[in-house]
Amino acid sequence: MVKVDIDWTTEFLVGLLNTPSPTGDTARAIAYVRDALAAFPLQLTLNRKGALIATWPGASTDCPRALTAHVDTLGAMVQQVKGNGRLRLTQIGGYAWNSVEGEGCTVMTAEGGHCSGTILPTKSSVHVHGQEMRELERKGENMEVRLDARTGAADETRALGIEVGDFVALDPRVQVTETGFVRSRHLDDKAGVAVIVGAIKALADAGLQPAQRTTFHISNYEEVGHGASTGIPADVQELLAVDMGAVGEGLQGDEFSVSICAKDSGGPYDLGFRRRLVALCEAADIPYRLDVYPYYGSDGEAAWRAGADLVVGLIGPGVDASHSYERTHQDSLTASVQLLVEYLLS
Ligand SMILES: [Zn+2]
Repeated sequence: MVKVDIDWTTEFLVGLLNTPSPTGDTARAIAYVRDALAAFPLQLTLNRKGALIATWPGASTDCPRALTAHVDTLGAMVQQVKGNGRLRLTQIGGYAWNSVEGEGCTVMTAEGGHCSGTILPTKSSVHVHGQEMRELERKGENMEVRLDARTGAADETRALGIEVGDFVALDPRVQVTETGFVRSRHLDDKAGVAVIVGAIKALADAGLQPAQRTTFHISNYEEVGHGASTGIPADVQELLAVDMGAVGEGLQGDEFSVSICAKDSGGPYDLGFRRRLVALCEAADIPYRLDVYPYYGSDGEAAWRAGADLVVGLIGPGVDASHSYERTHQDSLTASVQLLVEYLLS
């Protein structure tokens, strides 16, 4: 089996996690991936929408393929500069407000500056608000950003360069533990991007190339539902979406295997493609878990909905507490890279 450099892949992932990229403000993360891929025999281009399209010519072109993973993440945008100098946010992507309560964040201003802050309920102190603080419904109008700057009024906040429409990135709080866990926000889907890049490196290190011409589509609008609705070449016959595997009650996926999704909220993935992915895992002894996700959509379905005529599959590393403070393990990253390597060579 081709060797997987898990330390290199983890280091790449940590750097990507520390590069803020809420959907709509992803240029830095796209540049980070492009710079890493420049070391490999790929043709690199950005489409107008800002996605990175990397093509590896491969040994054959009779069944061109594509892989997609997304660098865009959950985040927020300034909706209102409030009279008290704090910020009301609008969410980017789907998450519960309580999953970001107390989280650090960075407001990225038009002039390229930043201001740090914390997302808090409008009644945030148990000593001041008592039971009201506990019972306050966590919804947009009841949450605000407390900026780390001396401001108590809207004009003082505006003087910091902050305005409606500024993007807000959540602190990822990346940590790699001695036991091999990676805990961070936004493993969805930076872990997916990392396993694609890890698979490209594994092939290149072994002096191999994909069996088919392969397009690597690094998406930048997945969390809002239309990332891969464009950017997949028209002659591509198979699209493999590499996105987080859901982990939790009622599911088989875990943080130590590669997850293969049979069906999600958008319906079933291609049966023949899924069976081939399972067969590749069986043949190479790669730990995998089959699952059906109750609340989930992918860029594979975005391509389908946009009218792409191809088969679609979905795999990815298992991620616990998705869209909250997430966690996976290096074993799941390794299994995901191994499956991608086997697929690319098949
Ligand atoms: Zn995702």
